[in-house]
Amino acid sequence: MSDCEDIILVAGAGGFIGGHLVNRLLERGHKVRAVDIKPVAEWYQLFPAAENHVLDLKSLANCRTAVAGAARVYNLAADMGGMGFIETHKAECMLSVLINTHLLMAAREAGVDRFFYASSACVYAADKQTNADVTALKEEDAYPAMAEDGYGWEKLFSERMCRHFREDYGVTTRVARYHNVYGPNGTYDGGREKAPAAMCRKVIEAKLSGRHAIEIWGDGEQTRSFMYIDDCLTGTMAIMASGIVDPINLGSAQLVSINQLVDIVENIAGIKLKRSYNLGAPKGVRGRNSDNTLIQKKLGWEPSIRLEDGMEQTYRWIWDQIAAGKAERKLAS
Ligand code: NAD
Repeated sequence: MSDCEDIILVAGAGGFIGGHLVNRLLERGHKVRAVDIKPVAEWYQLFPAAENHVLDLKSLANCRTAVAGAARVYNLAADMGGMGFIETHKAECMLSVLINTHLLMAAREAGVDRFFYASSACVYAADKQTNADVTALKEEDAYPAMAEDGYGWEKLFSERMCRHFREDYGVTTRVARYHNVYGPNGTYDGGREKAPAAMCRKVIEAKLSGRHAIEIWGDGEQTRSFMYIDDCLTGTMAIMASGIVDPINLGSAQLVSINQLVDIVENIAGIKLKRSYNLGAPKGVRGRNSDNTLIQKKLGWEPSIRLEDGMEQTYRWIWDQIAAGKAERKLAS
């Protein structure tokens, strides 16, 4: 591996947010080391200008290899997915604790300048998210702790690990709590996809098949906010560069119900679908929104890309993927 001192390590670079972050860092002229456990053929985005490595970062030895010579570390690697995945793979989600722990240990040994950890709104206490008409979550609402079982507890533990490595060992750590990130170049099928991509896929499939129906998980009245990837990158890099030492919300404050999200996708597609509701499907908390008072105060900024605009980009990309897949299948048969 290269020994240049200003290398930035992106862990989880084959994933959705990691791939976009590599791109943005390269655009800004940084040297990037991109690492993921997946074979490179499965990375959402691959940039020849980056150093690309396939490593399992649950192993301390691999973390040492990945961190060697890097000045900054962005940890976006985790075994994760939407509600359908995290409600049924709690042990797998919790094992991501090994990634952050070993990356922190390696970062400390190597004396990196800064370390970023991607936490999640799933750290917030469940009893503060029982109404669709939710009060937006402030950073202190994570305690007393009652995080999302499995995935959320791992995130909360890893947040604290960052804090203690900062306090006890002087590692400069930064932590953002992402609220539902969406955009092109991410998962849209296979079970790990989240609501925005899932809705795009379902509407596209309905449009292509002529079967004008859609299944929605839950009663569709559960609420969320969704942050477009460009806002996520801007916020991530600003938090990394900032003096903000405690975990901070990074999310949109545009609250919508899942039914409203479907309305938006239907409008983009120019179609109306018959909705059925699967009340037994995983649906997560009843309502969740990001209180952006703190990020406004600290950065004078908050995510602002409208859901309608971000979903348009996301829909177009998923449409192209599905259309390309169909063309490939046709050629093969
Ligand atoms: P993603 O699943 O697309 O990317 C995560 C990447 O980590 C994957 O490519 C995966 O292969 C890789 N990975 C998993 N285990 C690994 C290992 N042992 N070693 C090396 N790489 C490994 O997910 P994403 O949406 O890009 O999320 C990035 C980070 O942001 C994650 O920590 C996630 O928990 C957090 N987050 C995401 C959202 C969201 O809405 N996307 C919300 C909150 C938090």
